[in-house]
Amino acid sequence: MTRAIQNTGFSCMKCGKEILPLTNGSYRNHCPHCLSSRHVDNKPGDRSSQCKGLMKPIGLRFNSKKGYQVVHQCTRCGEIKVNKVADCTVQPDDTNKLILLQSL
Ligand SMILES: [Zn+2]
Ligand SMILES: [Zn+2]
Repeated sequence: MTRAIQNTGFSCMKCGKEILPLTNGSYRNHCPHCLSSRHVDNKPGDRSSQCKGLMKPIGLRFNSKKGYQVVHQCTRCGEIKVNKVADCTVQPDDTNKLILLQSL
């Protein structure tokens, strides 16, 4: 059985901005404006987590295969997840915020 992976827009839990889905085939899971995310997935895109907590960005790291990744921690259950930075033309991640994260 395959579960359909959703790739829809959403509004940010933190700053309330409307976020468009990615069109380059990858999956958007955090806000490009404040880099916050929401704990909705167990596996990326599956939307099966019951937590729904706010995930705040706590750092930036570089993976030689996947490129830059934002490290998120859930403010509700404490789970840490790593998400690829969105390098797209529509609503790319805020570079200034990414730089701030890198210096943490
Ligand atoms: Zn936001
Ligand atoms: Zn959580």
